[in-house]
Amino acid sequence: LVVLDNVNKHFGALHVLQDIDLTINRGEVVVVIGPSGSGKSTLCRTINRLETIDSGSITIDGKPLPQEGRELARLRADVGMVFQSFNLFAHKTVLENVMLGQTKVRRTDKAAAANKARALLDRVGVGTQADKYPAQLSGGQQQRVAIARALAMDPKVMLFDEPTSALDPEMINEVLDVMQQLARDGMTMIVVTHEMGFARSAANRVVFMADGRIVEEAEPNQFFNNPRSERARDFLSKIL
Ligand code: ATP
Ligand code: MG
Repeated sequence: LVVLDNVNKHFGALHVLQDIDLTINRGEVVVVIGPSGSGKSTLCRTINRLETIDSGSITIDGKPLPQEGRELARLRADVGMVFQSFNLFAHKTVLENVMLGQTKVRRTDKAAAANKARALLDRVGVGTQADKYPAQLSGGQQQRVAIARALAMDPKVMLFDEPTSALDPEMINEVLDVMQQLARDGMTMIVVTHEMGFARSAANRVVFMADGRIVEEAEPNQFFNNPRSERARDFLSKIL
């Protein structure tokens, strides 16, 4: 569904993505881990074209990423993204946050958008918060709203970039549970996270990045119990 072929990207002299080959199949959950600065966020951002690439190609559903205009807006809708900071619109209610993309990008009418928004808010467990403003919610609730907002666009793939890193510990699981459920429902997901429990239980595959390269790719059991590379062993010894 998502194919990166020999992708390279530089920030000035920094070669932040080096010869990245990565294929994510429909329904697959891929967890990306690696040291700080290894290029995980940049990788995510290239997939919905928040960053351009210097060479190589990225296709989604067989189509190259569009460069601009309406096609780009549609791509951003097809590729749902959830960030560490929730990025909700502060001056809109929870319900309006989840309706906005539907009415603006998908041109859904308001009543249908509201119905769908309510159903999604229920699904992520914040249905009773629909008429509040983001600042009135806990971090875990806000992040679940952000997930609902992305889901409202019927994305083909969901990208999560450290979705629980900004949360207080007691709120991490409520977000991971929603993601776990999404994975079970068959969503194609790319998840950058330090939550190794989630990686073990939800991932089909772990991708380990270091210095802009994919150093190792393996099933979670294989990766955590028997990492092949020295870099991965070293990384795991620090975080586990
Ligand atoms: P972390 O675990 O800390 O989030 P990461 O693996 O997500 O790290 P990236 O955010 O992708 O790493 O950054 C990779 C490298 O690229 C870092 O050295 C970072 O400083 C650099 N970088 C990221 N964005 C930019 C930018 N817009 N301009 C210049 N350098 C950048
Ligand atoms: Mg990052």
